[in-house]
Amino acid sequence: EARLDDSFQTLMDWADAEGEIDIRANADTPADAAIARGFNAHGIGLCRTEHMFFDPGRLTVMQEMIFADAPEDRRAALDQLLPMQIADFTELFRIMHGQPVCIRLFDPPLHEFLPSDRAGLRDLAEALDLPVSDVTRRVQSMEEHNPMLGLRGVRLGLTVPEIYEMQVRAIFEATLTASKEGDPVVPEIMIPLVSAPREVEIVRTRIDAVAAAVRNEHGRDFDYRLGVMVETPRACLMADKIASSVDFLSFGTNDLTQMTYGLSRDDAGRFMSAYVNQSVYKEDPFHILDVDGVGELLTVGFERARAANPDVVMSICGEHGGNPESIAFCRGLGFNYVSCSPFRVPVARLAAAQEAIRLKIATS
Ligand code: PEP
Ligand code: MG
Repeated sequence: EARLDDSFQTLMDWADAEGEIDIRANADTPADAAIARGFNAHGIGLCRTEHMFFDPGRLTVMQEMIFADAPEDRRAALDQLLPMQIADFTELFRIMHGQPVCIRLFDPPLHEFLPSDRAGLRDLAEALDLPVSDVTRRVQSMEEHNPMLGLRGVRLGLTVPEIYEMQVRAIFEATLTASKEGDPVVPEIMIPLVSAPREVEIVRTRIDAVAAAVRNEHGRDFDYRLGVMVETPRACLMADKIASSVDFLSFGTNDLTQMTYGLSRDDAGRFMSAYVNQSVYKEDPFHILDVDGVGELLTVGFERARAANPDVVMSICGEHGGNPESIAFCRGLGFNYVSCSPFRVPVARLAAAQEAIRLKIATS
């Protein structure tokens, strides 16, 4: 576990007393959660659960699930992953000792889990006991022209509901286990890539059904919070309507930057230096928050959401969350917390305090 030495710890405590904004960490492994905890993060602000499915043993089951045509066959495959997800979440809850843990439901397009080269397709065909030609055809049929704008996030959640159902069951089972052992856990469940209130309504109904089943099976009660990622311009514009039915909103500035600029976050690096050199952009907007464009959307989203639901908790969790200028911007707007990579937590805590002190001096 990472630890701060005592004098730095004191400095950090002073920083927190001034900071007026919480700093959480993005963590999806026990190792990252332990670093976050060691740096006194105020919880996990983003657990990207899709990272949990790339381990070879789990990947094969995911592929089996993707190839299953009937919901009950998909459920049977996902049932094999359930105990692993329960263990994943129980471990994160244990490490965080009752600090909030925000778990984002599965986000990426399913074909990220399928092979694209010949050898991989052959292995998959063998594992599924299907002809290579069938597997190849099926994989090709799932390829998308623009996967980042395709069947991902909540769109996948609505299309293949069994994945979310397995994940929320795992979250609730882990909640009961961890709460029995120690600090009470109130999990935060986050729906990715939302851009319509109805998406939230549908997912909430399904989550509530799973919660009722788990309560009934265990004869024990638990609570949970539901939130969404705001990472499309439409979600910012509709933030009032979305916020009125959720507990929290977390702005995903990576996707929001991509969608605001209409610029692929995975390809921007190819020409960004030419753009910055010719002063088209002041800085790479994927590294430094673009306060004029993306920041404006954050402001609109924040204000509309706050007006509609004064209690809604708001944060950012994209890469910008660890950047001092972005933290100052979010603090100025009134965000409740920012979430950043675990190693950036100390810098973020200092940045929040520095901004608070700067404002105090400026207004005194
Ligand atoms: C984001 O889009 O800003 C985000 C935090 O989600 P991801 O990077 O996983 O898409
Ligand atoms: Mg995103």
